[in-house]
Amino acid sequence: MKVELVIKHARVVDATGEFDGGVAIQGGRIVMTGTSDALPEARRVIDAGGRVLMPGLIDPHCHLGVKYPYPEDMQTETKAAASGGITTVLLYARNTKESYLPFYDERRALGEANAVIDFGFHFGIQREEHIHEIPKIVAHTGVKSFKLYFGYEPDNPIGIVPATDGWVYAAMRQVKPISGGVVSVHCENTAIAAWIKKEIQATGRQDLGAYTESRPAFCEVETIRRMLFLAERTGCPLHLVHTSVGMGPVLAAEARARGIDVTVETCPHYLTRTAYDPDLDMKAKISPPLRDATEQAGLWEGVANGGVWSLGSDHVPFLPKKGEDLWAELPGVVSFPWELALLLHFGVHQRGLPLPRLVELTSAHAAQRFGLWPKKGSLRAGADADLVLVDLDETREVEHTGKGTCIYTGWKLKGWPVMTISRGEVVYEDGEVTGAAGRARCVTVPA
Ligand SMILES: [Zn+2]
Repeated sequence: MKVELVIKHARVVDATGEFDGGVAIQGGRIVMTGTSDALPEARRVIDAGGRVLMPGLIDPHCHLGVKYPYPEDMQTETKAAASGGITTVLLYARNTKESYLPFYDERRALGEANAVIDFGFHFGIQREEHIHEIPKIVAHTGVKSFKLYFGYEPDNPIGIVPATDGWVYAAMRQVKPISGGVVSVHCENTAIAAWIKKEIQATGRQDLGAYTESRPAFCEVETIRRMLFLAERTGCPLHLVHTSVGMGPVLAAEARARGIDVTVETCPHYLTRTAYDPDLDMKAKISPPLRDATEQAGLWEGVANGGVWSLGSDHVPFLPKKGEDLWAELPGVVSFPWELALLLHFGVHQRGLPLPRLVELTSAHAAQRFGLWPKKGSLRAGADADLVLVDLDETREVEHTGKGTCIYTGWKLKGWPVMTISRGEVVYEDGEVTGAAGRARCVTVPA
């Protein structure tokens, strides 16, 4: 039998370990893994030359179609993602209308018509009706992941409607009986952050550190504790998104030991940047803020010891930042093309992060948390052939030509994705995105 594609002579890595050999692909799926001479003949054979072959990244945290049109973002940003070794993105999507059902139908269709790689959704709770609608949303869309936002004042420039504790409690009660359901929370104490912001704003400071100090780490720690309490009370699985404080993984590990189903996400920028890096200014405003070296060290500890469950980029393409007023600047940066390179450079090379652990953090765990496992995030026979080929030794500078704000321009990173394969199709190769817009599939679909 001749299969469509074989990749051989690779260092094949998944969450459980690694071996020398390759994979055989037919019909968009992995049909076999094994030593290179055991693999069948194929119409196309790629010799990996000893490079690392691992599951394509699942980036479970991005925001597309916020300030640019959604169909446009689904093209440009999923292309950027493919160039970074990402094969699935999950969008934290928000809808201010009463129902998510028409919103899902529209967003799914436009996504499938425009995206290059697979995508799916989490839905933001933005009004009470959304909480009541949860069972219907699950049945109609397959989306089982819901997000609540703290830390945003009612008049915030992004238009996010902040949650109340009542919303969280009610949403958790709704999600708890749903198999595979999970509630994500943006943890920052809204009222305390608003109060301190007024004080610091009054000093006239415009440096990035002023923004960080206006919403200190304890604001996030406080809300994490409160959410853990509510998760314990309701029995609802809890996912702590974009955790920026070292106490996050520590508190979550304690809670897990007590039987609470909680997982922690952090982002590449919290692991590689602080608010006090001399080259950064207000354009590096992110929500939650970049913090200091102590918080960063705590997060790396969580990456090393398992306290951090998964990584998400929080990629959000905004219009070019103005750089005029710290307090009016929109928070958020883009990371898709360099997310993996940053982790290879600062994690694998600098800190000895084992590659199977990297796979856990960048795909396997997100797949497990959000109902995609083992179709995504694994290399088992039958799984989607979503793969990234990595050159651990390639050293190259970060260049940003796309939308949004990049906070790494000019950084020389060691370790880059060189080829991305989505459901058996090469979508990025030799520095070019070759996958066509509109080949994507939505991964959050009704059962
Ligand atoms: Zn986000």
